[in-house]
Amino acid sequence: MLLMKDIVRDGHPVLRKKAAEVTIPPLKEDVEILEDMLTFIKNSQDEEIAEKYHLRSGVGLAAPQIGISKQLLVVHFEYDDQLYSYQLMNPKIISHSVQKAFLGGGEGCLSVDEVIEGYVPRNAKITVRAFDINGNPVKIRLKGYPAIVMQHEIDHLNGIMFYDHINKENPFHIPENAKIIE
Ligand code: ZN
Repeated sequence: MLLMKDIVRDGHPVLRKKAAEVTIPPLKEDVEILEDMLTFIKNSQDEEIAEKYHLRSGVGLAAPQIGISKQLLVVHFEYDDQLYSYQLMNPKIISHSVQKAFLGGGEGCLSVDEVIEGYVPRNAKITVRAFDINGNPVKIRLKGYPAIVMQHEIDHLNGIMFYDHINKENPFHIPENAKIIE
């Protein structure tokens, strides 16, 4: 069972590396990593379990965040009465909107213990091509908050942290063509 001690914190070089593609059909070990990661995120959202094991609540996790430099990620959350739960291998953004979007409250990360304020502009809509945990190809279209979460996790596979996107001169600068998501 993954715990907070297993989460690699900011400053560790694995978070700045481009993660390696995994083999398709999936290796048993990669399937197990995805299962462990999803269990961790679900546990982190369960009040009782989270309190017992001192888990910070999260909505997504990428393998580099547990020290594994492979293109594996999970997201799991409810938004607008819909469940977004994915365990993905080798995800790629194949197209995106011109319009940008950002979270009014900024972003957080299980690998970043402090709060870093500022707007994180991302694409408002994305289409992702990936393989699911069974090795089947999937194409996923997301917009708004779910699109932002997915981009945050895919960034981890490319060595990018959310705060890299924050405007250095003015962290609350609103980019052109961007809508705020509350
Ligand atoms: Zn993160």
